Amino acid sequence: MMAGIRGKNTRPEIAIRHALHRRGLRYGLHVAGLPGKPDMVFRPRRAVIFVHGCFWHGHSCPLFRLPGTRPEFWKAKIDGNRTRDCKVQQQLESMGWRQLTIWECAIRGRGPAAIDEVADRAAAWLNSKNTLAEIRGP
Ligand SMILES: [Zn+2]
Repeated sequence: MMAGIRGKNTRPEIAIRHALHRRGLRYGLHVAGLPGKPDMVFRPRRAVIFVHGCFWHGHSCPLFRLPGTRPEFWKAKIDGNRTRDCKVQQQLESMGWRQLTIWECAIRGRGPAAIDEVADRAAAWLNSKNTLAEIRGP
């Protein structure tokens, strides 16, 4: 039934982690004490990366579709997640953290070349001064 994925250490997240690691980028995982428990924390660069599942975070993309059963339950739940994402973004921003969101649709079902492309873009962002960015699927 799940049109998406949830939780930590999901497959797209692990694929991206490995690709960044191969590029020599080092990070902490799920660092407690930071709002939203970012999936990867690059402390010296004051940057975090979130890998978001398109279903749970209500992404407007082909991977997101409200389930046919109990749609109002799911809508409330996902709206709540989106509100929380917004708050987390503002909190991190006010603490001076740069943030990159990588959406599941940039990775899922797109093969190793797409993962490398996403990792290249993430590495370029890490080396930039860009505060907020996202990478999404086609
Ligand atoms: Zn998406």
